[in-house]
Amino acid sequence: MRHDSIIILDFGSQYSHLIARRIRELGVYCELHPCTIKAAELHAMEPKGIVLSGGPYSVYEDGAPHADPALWDFGVPMLGICYGLQEMSRAHGGEVAASEKREYGHAELKIQTAEPLFKGLPEHIQVWMSHGDKVLSLPDGFSDIARTSNSEHAAVCDPRRNWFGIQFHPEVSHTPMGKTILENFVCGVCGCARDWTMGSFLEETIERIRQTVGESETVIGAVSGGVDSTVAAVLMHKAIGSRFHAILVDNGVLRMKEAEQVMARLRDRMGINLHLIDAGETFMKKLYGVTDPESKRKIIGNTFIEVFEIEAKRIGDVNYLLQGTLYPDVIESVSFKGPSATIKTHHNVGGLLEDMELKLIEPLRELFKDEVRALGLELGLDEESVYRHPFPGPGLAIRILGEITRDRLEILRHADHIYMGELKEAGLYRDIGQAFAVLLPVRSVGVMGDSRTYEQVIALRAVQTTDYMTADWYPIPTEVLKRISNRIINEVRGVNRVVYDVSSKPPSTIEWE
Ligand code: GLN
Repeated sequence: MRHDSIIILDFGSQYSHLIARRIRELGVYCELHPCTIKAAELHAMEPKGIVLSGGPYSVYEDGAPHADPALWDFGVPMLGICYGLQEMSRAHGGEVAASEKREYGHAELKIQTAEPLFKGLPEHIQVWMSHGDKVLSLPDGFSDIARTSNSEHAAVCDPRRNWFGIQFHPEVSHTPMGKTILENFVCGVCGCARDWTMGSFLEETIERIRQTVGESETVIGAVSGGVDSTVAAVLMHKAIGSRFHAILVDNGVLRMKEAEQVMARLRDRMGINLHLIDAGETFMKKLYGVTDPESKRKIIGNTFIEVFEIEAKRIGDVNYLLQGTLYPDVIESVSFKGPSATIKTHHNVGGLLEDMELKLIEPLRELFKDEVRALGLELGLDEESVYRHPFPGPGLAIRILGEITRDRLEILRHADHIYMGELKEAGLYRDIGQAFAVLLPVRSVGVMGDSRTYEQVIALRAVQTTDYMTADWYPIPTEVLKRISNRIINEVRGVNRVVYDVSSKPPSTIEWE
């Protein structure tokens, strides 16, 4: 089934991916492409509308990106946002120049013509501005449909061609009615059906996987217990059953009972053909005595590939490697700012691909994280695994600062288990982006039962974040912190102090190593 779709041309704005998310939230399929894409290529995609994004450049400066001139004959409705508006105006004889006043932040938009873009909105709305240039004179055929005190052409329209331009950003949350504006464009002006649901995605993707993999070929893929690899694995299993081999590598630095839980969930409950490789010894031998964080990461990454490769070769005769690549990775690699053609490979399996002549299969590459979660629920996964906090590939190795020993692993596992349990008990887990315990490489003095102790310190980390690029430390209520601290000190042997991390990212990172 072909979905009605919108194409967003990315002129490099930091908000471009947000436009895509907002449109997907409306239930309409959309894709982001570099602004320099040829109109002929776009034709093949048959979009029902085109959005031109914002961008950091000035349309009149040398080297500024421009759309393929053939785009203007495309014949579908268009919406230019900020740079997109300026580009649309410049290309048709309008005048764009640096404004005397840069405008950054809230502004009040006064709507002059409600239909069709501002349908259903009050006459005055709050919008978010972020520009230094402005359109001074409009091209022929355009007229103003809204203004602010600073921009008389804050929203314009060429009704003959169904082209719209807005100087503000409807995709950010600081424009509270922005979603209605996008909806009016996408569903109203372009007439897109809202048929992009995870239910339809599921059916179509299973069909597509079957066609790609055929009747007899096989697929392997690593699972970690994280939401992306779990959803990808369940999807693959639904499509081709036991011709999909999932591999779970127990690297010895997983959390308490983690491998067992993944086995119970994916093999016992979902029936996935799951191979558990108990490689704890192999990893621990190599990690012995290592304290440098980068070395820990490298050792774990390389050993993972070795172990995975041995198992892949043992299974033999495999044709595809499953990867849980998501849309943000894809966008990053095609975006106008960062034209690096290669897509991030998780766990660096590039060598493996060549060695075994495997082809990549990436069924989630069109999805955003929240869509992957919705798909997981659609696939019948429990909420616990769908909303699990991210867990790094090097596992507890980078949460034990300093040397990793079995004793220290035991301490951290136990403390982390108590911490997670209490957060869930208090109903805070879902509200927090990521939480975990860290074992510090220092000892501190304490007193227990009248005698002096000299023992280890646990730090608790919890952050609130939407994209993991920036994060604020999360204010866990004092009573909950008290309970966590009491339990850890009483129940985990070898710990006599618990501290709480109150740093945000940046300048701190979420993980400590
Ligand atoms: N660089 C252009 C300006 O300053 C466009 C900014 C944008 O698209 N956010 O006006």
